[in-house]
Amino acid sequence: MNKISSSIRCVIIICAFVITGILSTGCGSVPLTGRKQVLLVSDKEVFEAGLTQYNEYIRGAELSSDSRSTALVKSVGSKLAQSTERYLKANGFESELDNLEWEFNLVKSNEVNAFCMPGGKIVVYEGLLSVAQTEAELATVIGHEIGHAVAKHSNERMSQQIMTQYGMAILSQALSQKSAAVQTVATSVFGLGAQVGIMLPYSRKHEYEADYMGIVFMEIAGYDSASALDFWTKMAAGGSNANDFLSTHPSDSKRIAEIKRRIPEAQAIAVSMKN
Ligand SMILES: [Zn+2]
Repeated sequence: MNKISSSIRCVIIICAFVITGILSTGCGSVPLTGRKQVLLVSDKEVFEAGLTQYNEYIRGAELSSDSRSTALVKSVGSKLAQSTERYLKANGFESELDNLEWEFNLVKSNEVNAFCMPGGKIVVYEGLLSVAQTEAELATVIGHEIGHAVAKHSNERMSQQIMTQYGMAILSQALSQKSAAVQTVATSVFGLGAQVGIMLPYSRKHEYEADYMGIVFMEIAGYDSASALDFWTKMAAGGSNANDFLSTHPSDSKRIAEIKRRIPEAQAIAVSMKN
């Protein structure tokens, strides 16, 4: 879908919701890519819904006892968080910093997996370190997950789910009932709750967007984004070991080609940030 028709569709949908007084939120624009998106849920609600599930997950998870790897995850996360914030501040997205409350954890598990909750709560599983063997490869994963957070893909997916599951029905409901819808949808979108346990996969559009944002944040942080090619090539060759991560982050050779195509853009942005 081209940009113009996407914007028109966005405006029509938002008008329908705003006229009925159900929603105060509307269209958003993704930092870095400028893509227009429908965001029906407030940042605060998305953050709180995600945080509830995240806290529940962390309570039940066992954190890694590998202090060296844990320190690496936290230091790479912190470097990328700083470069992300620098980009947002320098490009008119300073207000977005209010939506970010970074946390980086390494969890004891052989699963080759990682995920991000709204606001920048990022979890890496020990098993992922068998694929992301260098600091820059680890930065690829964390940068990608930060991309999902900054682009508010959770809000977009929740908004899509609300439209799919509730459609016009929610338009006639009271505002208080919308919160219940948000909670229900959050459970299926994040999938960390006890009953569900399956996180919805990201769309190809969101994956490519998170990849691009990730390599930009990597370059600003001083990492060589070519490492992203190494990481995804290994993931693609990883077979069933990589299934956990690939189930929520669908991947193929086109993805690697797309990252390669966009590396010069990412490098140019990082250079411009130095001036
Ligand atoms: Zn992803």
